[in-house]
Amino acid sequence: MQLKEKNFTGMIWLSLLALLLGVGIQLGLGFSRQTRSDAQAGEILRELTAIARAAGEERAAGLQLDTQALAALPAQKAAAYEDLHLELLLLVNPWNPVPEDYTTEVVQVGQWQIGEDQYIDVRCADALLRMIADCQAAGYRPYICSSYRTQAMQEGLFYNKLERVLDMGYGWEEAQEIAAQSVARPGTSEHQLGLAADLIDDDYTYLDQWQEQTGTQQWLMENAWRYGFILRYPNGTTDITGIIYEPWHYRYVGERFARDIHQRGVTLEEYVALRRGR
Ligand SMILES: [Zn+2]
Repeated sequence: MQLKEKNFTGMIWLSLLALLLGVGIQLGLGFSRQTRSDAQAGEILRELTAIARAAGEERAAGLQLDTQALAALPAQKAAAYEDLHLELLLLVNPWNPVPEDYTTEVVQVGQWQIGEDQYIDVRCADALLRMIADCQAAGYRPYICSSYRTQAMQEGLFYNKLERVLDMGYGWEEAQEIAAQSVARPGTSEHQLGLAADLIDDDYTYLDQWQEQTGTQQWLMENAWRYGFILRYPNGTTDITGIIYEPWHYRYVGERFARDIHQRGVTLEEYVALRRGR
């Protein structure tokens, strides 16, 4: 009888030990997951994509309700939609810095096929991944070479560019202006919003005007609006945008606005001005 009791106590201890081991393994897995080894990168991407998709569906569901409620009032329907999404039109350019109280929630969308360690706002992560997947399905090789940037990252890029322009012999003031035409001054880059991505063709990775000749860009320029993105700095609009022609920089504004901007053939600056003038 005493022996049986001892066995029973032993079993309890064994179970506890097994439980602790199990928890330890779980913690270990969690920890190694944070180290983002290559083998786990795909899984993390899937998890984050699922989270982003769920968030998108929630918002879509909310919008659905609003749209239905306003169905009897068509004149106000578009206005209601726009009120819900106005923040997606936030204008950031050399004259309009990122607001000080602006915050963004980003998720990682990078993987080895489309650009590693890339982060983008949760509001457009799903749309960006769908656009890339569809572009790939059409036979092209889109690659994210830049997406969300912190202030520190933008500072690094800008001062790097400035140094190169200064090396060409320009004076301080002039060099800053020249540098700012291709790399936005810190605090004035759309990349800091988390709503912009530079997409290039994996077979032609140069950020120059010939990027537009690639199959990837031809496809993106024709289709980006369907996913809520616009080519932000079209050819011949530098006077309006303050930025050189960039046939690789896409900005998310949401599907409705993107369609409207695409159909009108205007820049974001002109579109925002049009709306203000209404
Ligand atoms: Zn860019």
